[in-house]
Amino acid sequence: MSEQQHTPVMKQFWEIKNKFPETLLFYRMGDFYELFYEDARKASELVDIALTSRGKSAGQPIPMAGVPAHAAEPYLRRLLKAGESVAICEQIGDPQTSKGPVERKVVRILTPGTVTEDSLLDEGSDTLVIAVYASKETDFGIASIDINASRFEGFRLNSETELERELDRLEPTEIVVCEGNADLIPNKWASKIQILARDRFSVSHTQSILDQHLKSTELPLSPIDYSDPVFVAAGAVLTYCVHTNGGELRNISVFQVCDLEKDLILDNFTRRNLELTESLSQNNTHTLLAVLDKTKTPIGKRLLRRWLSNPKKERRTLNYRLDLVEDFIATNIFSNLRSKLARLCDLERIVTRISLSRVKPRDLLKLRETLTILPEVKRLLRDSSSDRLRVLSTQIEDFSEIRTVLNAAILDDPKNSIDEGGVIAAGYDAQLDSLRNLADESNRFLANLESRERTETGYHGLKIGFNRVHGYYLECTRSKPFTPPSHYQRIQTLKAVERFTTAELKNHEMKVLKSSRDVIEFEKQVFNSTVRSMDAHSEDMMKTARLVGLIDVLANLADLAVTLNWVKPQFTSQEMLKINNGRHPTIELRSETPFVANDLELNGKRKILLITGPNMGGKSTYMRQNAIIVLMAHIGSFVPAHAATIGPIDSIFSRIGASDDITAGESTFMVEMRETANILHNAGSKSLVIIDEIGRGTSTYDGLALATSTAQHLATENKCFCLFATHYFELTNLPKEFPAISNVRLDAIERDEDITFLHEVSEGATNKSFGLAVARRAGVPDEVITTARKILKELEGGADSNHLLIDPTRRQIAEKQIISTIENLNMSALSKDEAISILTSLRKKLL
Ligand code: ATP
Repeated sequence: MSEQQHTPVMKQFWEIKNKFPETLLFYRMGDFYELFYEDARKASELVDIALTSRGKSAGQPIPMAGVPAHAAEPYLRRLLKAGESVAICEQIGDPQTSKGPVERKVVRILTPGTVTEDSLLDEGSDTLVIAVYASKETDFGIASIDINASRFEGFRLNSETELERELDRLEPTEIVVCEGNADLIPNKWASKIQILARDRFSVSHTQSILDQHLKSTELPLSPIDYSDPVFVAAGAVLTYCVHTNGGELRNISVFQVCDLEKDLILDNFTRRNLELTESLSQNNTHTLLAVLDKTKTPIGKRLLRRWLSNPKKERRTLNYRLDLVEDFIATNIFSNLRSKLARLCDLERIVTRISLSRVKPRDLLKLRETLTILPEVKRLLRDSSSDRLRVLSTQIEDFSEIRTVLNAAILDDPKNSIDEGGVIAAGYDAQLDSLRNLADESNRFLANLESRERTETGYHGLKIGFNRVHGYYLECTRSKPFTPPSHYQRIQTLKAVERFTTAELKNHEMKVLKSSRDVIEFEKQVFNSTVRSMDAHSEDMMKTARLVGLIDVLANLADLAVTLNWVKPQFTSQEMLKINNGRHPTIELRSETPFVANDLELNGKRKILLITGPNMGGKSTYMRQNAIIVLMAHIGSFVPAHAATIGPIDSIFSRIGASDDITAGESTFMVEMRETANILHNAGSKSLVIIDEIGRGTSTYDGLALATSTAQHLATENKCFCLFATHYFELTNLPKEFPAISNVRLDAIERDEDITFLHEVSEGATNKSFGLAVARRAGVPDEVITTARKILKELEGGADSNHLLIDPTRRQIAEKQIISTIENLNMSALSKDEAISILTSLRKKLL
């Protein structure tokens, strides 16, 4: 079908649509956004809007689906959630004066990562667009933009493993990559990828876009190497975000290159295994975040989440946070402060919308209230007895100028959108007031006209009315006879009434409509110029917004510390990890019985604990609680313990539980080994590693052999702190050979075939798993348990069966010890018989 055959509107549609082939085009037609052709079919499937057709163009019916412009947001939200992008094409010409289709233009492209409307965003998490650029195979530059928080950051990575880890940490909403480079990004992120042309990653483009957008004085390095992958990525992500935002992004003006050396590294498995933001059972009330997040503001909520996924190892930052938490507790102002914080708006996002000229009238109302409460927050901090809190208070600006403007400018109950008018208060702008007076005059004119017509026609029931179809009219009831004068023109006859118009009334109507359009147009101008005047303070307001987030998170941590009896952790430069009476923060809250607190002591000589004990004894809980306590300390939180002293830790690794990743094509054992391999390759002397069982997904011998050699490797090569839980009791012999390894155990008491767990950690090993008792408690039928007991007896019993059951690793360890005993025996002092008897008993004992 040739383009010439299309109707003029469809021609215009195609001209625009062809520029946005991958994007749904919301084409404004009067009060509706319409989608046509494939876009209409797709949208109607995704968000359940009726697929109709709109006449014909080029001889074919035009498939169409539409949504009312004023109610478009819920549809947009669902389309964005489904991963679609939407180009908003507005009418920018004047329909009254346009010859042919009114001029239209795409003013914005909504993508999942670049929207700024509250209704399209998740309040509690950041919305990040990142770009990934690899200059060499393993030399990655990453840059991220959070439009809504005006944050623009970048960092460098040196391996694909690091890239995978950082993607999991950042949880980007969109990932921008250079065409041909999509395979850099792991498969699980495929749906988030946005491809950008190769020239957007060139040195010249990088230079031009960064120079144009960033304040030159705040560029991080001087001179900038525009071929550095981190700057190339910065240029690309900025290009993408500027493009989707209609060519402007005034709020992004500072780029910060971050140093990952300051971070405590958590690998993907640990993030998942420690159930930081998502629980393994998909029950998100059981996560650490759910325990920690009692923040009062959306800014604080997002900041806390960011801290949790990006713990720091830099002591200065951590001690600053911990000291402030301590001060909030000591001054006891946190509750009062938190009740004030609860009344603050999402300042960060509203300030962003001010900068992007996208702020809504009701945002300004919320801002007005926030600026009224902020001085109270400031006063509370200022009047406290803590120097540090007083310093915080000085950093909160007063913004009295903006407050005064907002008090004068905005009505107490403004309309939702400035397009409808009804936002600016009387008395704020003289010109607007006089335009509005004209509208009042119009009402007076109508009242006069009505009374004049009544007198002249002698019909006293005559009245003036208005509707959207006919405009103003004169109306009389049909029950009373009325002879209209000759200048009356009948426009509508209904059952009970007749309606007329006159030239004078028509003329007035034109004037009124124009003047009310003028009022709205002018009100828009007043609104926009008020917003622009506030934009001059955006940077300061953003600083205050961030401070509000910080205060919120710290006051929240103070409240939790008091309520849940947490203690301030101490950092030391010595190689140690000492926790007294530690508890698991999530399980303690959930548990109906009192939680049994346990100690942990690791140091340069005692680096690995082999933890044995019954099933359900509390081994996993103990390991996780210690990792979580270390993690909490590294976000600046008090911890659930009586005391905690923490030496230098730079990473936490974990291998916990059995989970298939069938979708990734991996079996339980494969996942287990991938986690193990990751630890063995990456854990160093400052790592904390927790291993909850290893080798259980394969045959006993293979598993035992792997568990033993892994523990040995951790002790001799990785030299990390490690908590290693196992049911392979053979491993409890390792401390004899490896002094860095010690045994601890959890005990249980078995009575009358039932079992009581003590949950108490004590020194030494155990050799019982109480597996059958736990199975019985879990409801395994009695006959199965009875048979199992018989089999167990046989297995543990006679020498022959014992001999058969001895696995190679255990035999190896035993034989090693026999040899070393023989070597140490003073043979000359013993008769042959004595020696044989000692060896036989030793052999029996060991095997
Ligand atoms: P398995 O060897 O079967 O994996 P486990 O030794 O790892 O078991 P956990 O999963 O840690 O045992 O604990 C089982 C349950 O015991 C926990 O879900 C918790 O409810 C309870 N529990 C564990 N430790 C404690 C404790 N210190 N105080 C109170 N309850 C505890």
